[in-house]
Amino acid sequence: TVKTRFAPSPTGYLHVGGARTALYSWLHAKSQGGEFVLRIEDTDLERSTQEAVDAILEGMKWAGLDWDEGPYFQTQRFDRYNELVDQLLAEDKAYKCYCSRERLDELRAAQMDAKESPRYDGKCSHGDIEDTGADFVVRFRNPKEGSVIVDDKIRGKVEFANTELDDLIIRRTDGSPTYNFCVVVDDWDMGITNVVRGEDHLNNTPRQINILKALGAPVPQYAHVAMILGDDGAKLSKRHGAVGVMQYRDDGYLPEALLNYLVRLGWSHGDQEIFSTEEMIKLFSLDAVNKAPSAFNTEKLQWVNQHYIKTLAPEYVASHLEWHMADQGIDITNGPALAEIVKVLAERAKTLKELAASSRYFFEDYADFDATAAKKHLRPVAKDALVKVQEKLAAIADWSDAEVLHAAINDTATELEVGMGKVGMPLRVAITGAGQSPSLDVTLKLIGKERSLAGIDKALA
Ligand code: GLU
Repeated sequence: TVKTRFAPSPTGYLHVGGARTALYSWLHAKSQGGEFVLRIEDTDLERSTQEAVDAILEGMKWAGLDWDEGPYFQTQRFDRYNELVDQLLAEDKAYKCYCSRERLDELRAAQMDAKESPRYDGKCSHGDIEDTGADFVVRFRNPKEGSVIVDDKIRGKVEFANTELDDLIIRRTDGSPTYNFCVVVDDWDMGITNVVRGEDHLNNTPRQINILKALGAPVPQYAHVAMILGDDGAKLSKRHGAVGVMQYRDDGYLPEALLNYLVRLGWSHGDQEIFSTEEMIKLFSLDAVNKAPSAFNTEKLQWVNQHYIKTLAPEYVASHLEWHMADQGIDITNGPALAEIVKVLAERAKTLKELAASSRYFFEDYADFDATAAKKHLRPVAKDALVKVQEKLAAIADWSDAEVLHAAINDTATELEVGMGKVGMPLRVAITGAGQSPSLDVTLKLIGKERSLAGIDKALA
């Protein structure tokens, strides 16, 4: 059965590039009825932090990228890696290297001077090196001839000459295994059939394949995903604004929107833009992943987000909106159900953050009128309209019928022989504090009778 993995290094949050890689890996597993493994590659003790582990898990959970196995932690598997390093040593597929840092530095400098690519010269590989008890690293004996062909699902066949590959260090002097070796052992032990990862790892792949072969392990199918660029064509980075997945939550995006946006960033199915998770699972294929880099486009993400805000079940959208209400300090205990807010405001909001901000008046008395709206609609002319419409509204016993509320406004306009707007706009400013809101009847209904009438009092004062 198909088994894929996502293997982040916990040195920062889950960024969008990582999230897309995780999504593709996850989708490949799901679409084949396979399993998805989460593995934390925390061998770099200096740069790995618990905070980053937590941030990655939080991001994965928020995005809904659930894993069937793990999270595994490489730091808990050192015994296993060392067992295999020892095995390769015993089989002479690896050797101890006693070369000093100074010697290696000199070697590198000389090779650079000669315009050669720096690589270990194999001094300790010949088997006649005396074990003096000095510090040593263990190097993998890379084949000297032939080439390695990476048959990549996205990039096609990529060939690497073995002469270009070093005898890689697989264990450091302090006894800790190195990154490429851990990856290989894990992919083997965890039964990974498909490795989906960023193209920045493509150069590691021939080395990893050689080690897998030396271990007698099967070689998984690789798929290296191109990188994501900012809209200016540079590699996506913090400069381009939000790049951590949780930052997108904070900025008001739904996980469905981010996933939909990310799946399309580098993969296509005809010209379809909107994919539910089920559809993605059904239609996704690594074969249709683009090998050219893709540029991130925030406007398009917003468009997708608005689509989901408008079309997902309001109760569901409300469950995400609740976080933003709390984040903006809006107490929702006394006010309409959030799903009602979603229904009336979804058309106008690109993000849940905006939606939350523009719904404040449904829950809280506004502190003061928006100055421009008040100047335009309230102070000069509105007194008669507000007095009359307040009278009519006050007389309505059943506040739940929007049509009745609408009629009160309509009747006021008719009696005063003015247009609806001459009543509606002052009323809107009176009850919301601002010049914009959904249709007035619904707004009145959601704000409630008591607070609506109080707002009119305030406008008349
Ligand atoms: N830990 C690597 C990274 O975060 C991924 C390695 C892999 O997928 O093989 O870039």
